[in-house]
Amino acid sequence: MALIRAVRGMKDILPPESGRWQWVEQVAREVFALYGYREMRLPLLERTELFARSIGADTDIVAKEMYTFTDRRGDSLTLRPEATAQVVRAFLENHLEKGAGVKKYFLIGPMFRYERPQKGRYRQFHQINCEALGSDAPELDAEVILLLWDLLSRLGLKTLTLLINSLGCPACQVEFRDKLKAFLFSREGWCPDCLRRREVNPLRVLDCKSQRCRELMQQAPLLRDCLCQACRRHYARTLELLSRFGVEVVEQPRLVRGLDYYTRTAFEVTATGLGAQDAVAGGGRYNGLVRDLGGPDMPGIGFAIGEDRLMEILPAEAVREEERGIFLAALGPAAREKGLDLVQEWRRQGLVAQMDYEDRSLKAQMSLADRLGAKWVVILGDRELAGGQAVLRDMDTGSQESVPLGELNIVLKHKSAIKEGN
Ligand code: ATP
Ligand code: MG
Repeated sequence: MALIRAVRGMKDILPPESGRWQWVEQVAREVFALYGYREMRLPLLERTELFARSIGADTDIVAKEMYTFTDRRGDSLTLRPEATAQVVRAFLENHLEKGAGVKKYFLIGPMFRYERPQKGRYRQFHQINCEALGSDAPELDAEVILLLWDLLSRLGLKTLTLLINSLGCPACQVEFRDKLKAFLFSREGWCPDCLRRREVNPLRVLDCKSQRCRELMQQAPLLRDCLCQACRRHYARTLELLSRFGVEVVEQPRLVRGLDYYTRTAFEVTATGLGAQDAVAGGGRYNGLVRDLGGPDMPGIGFAIGEDRLMEILPAEAVREEERGIFLAALGPAAREKGLDLVQEWRRQGLVAQMDYEDRSLKAQMSLADRLGAKWVVILGDRELAGGQAVLRDMDTGSQESVPLGELNIVLKHKSAIKEGN
């Protein structure tokens, strides 16, 4: 029978690769905790309307990338293409907007977009998201970016560039939109999408991926020149704080974000060595989003790290080694029976331990232990068992010693404590 394959653009994350993912997420959780961010775990499915209303009808995501279907009742549902809208949805639905202070959340999980699969671009991909709601202070912009930067540094990532821009407030954007629209109508050669965009949503032309449109846009007016006093001050203060805490940024006056709801600070982290899909993280302020989704007028800011792309540039040595543990090689029925007791006892004491349940030769069990990466092998034959002894072999050095059965767990605990350096 023919094998069934995974859906195009969706991949399996298998060991040992999955260990790297666990490590990255663990470091992320630690850094989020340091800054006071707590986890939201939200459904993968939302009402289609949530994304249509927040992300913007003329964005790539809503126009052509969503996995949307009607369920048995006829409701239109969508596999989440991004997290911010649903974090805000959960925030409002659960009345978390009440009370003072910035509300800080993170979310880790898969996102779905129907894009053309290629290196660094999948149809199910994974994000680490950060969202902070309730303050428009530039100190919060700086905090969120510092958090991102600390996290990426802890992961040992070095060849990164932080691109930053200010998109202004709705008032600045109105002025800019008019200037931009005039510019767009003063030139020819736009792609069919942009011909439509220049009528309905000129800002979207800024992130058109077509080469020709990008070239034409080199002459376009800049948002920077339309910023009001307050937006200018907000941006300057954000930059000042980032510099004070050692984050080098590159101002990128043409940077926009692919969604409609962004205001003021927008940023992106790019990495060398990823080819065309070089953005590992993106984020920004979304001061109008909470209100657009039916909530109070409440500002917010956040970012999303693309975990799949992050994995591609993660230095091999940055990952903590998996614990290698003990393999018990039992020879003969009585030893196998005793082995079950020992292995279970070790595990309950916090030692990594395995054994094999088939009747294999010592040679076969040793090569199995080797393949599993065991640090120690405990060899237990019926003869050793009768003498109350086992042989303990260090797989790295090949040295062996005889240890009384009753002392095995003490010896092993001691040795693994030494190995971990505590
Ligand atoms: P791109 O310009 O590469 O399409 P984007 O602006 O659509 O990115 P965001 O919506 O900002 O991406 O998502 C944040 C991050 O998620 C990106 O910087 C990227 O690392 C990752 N990402 C987005 N789409 C995909 C995808 N299809 N496959 C893998 N990672 C992705
Ligand atoms: Mg995209």
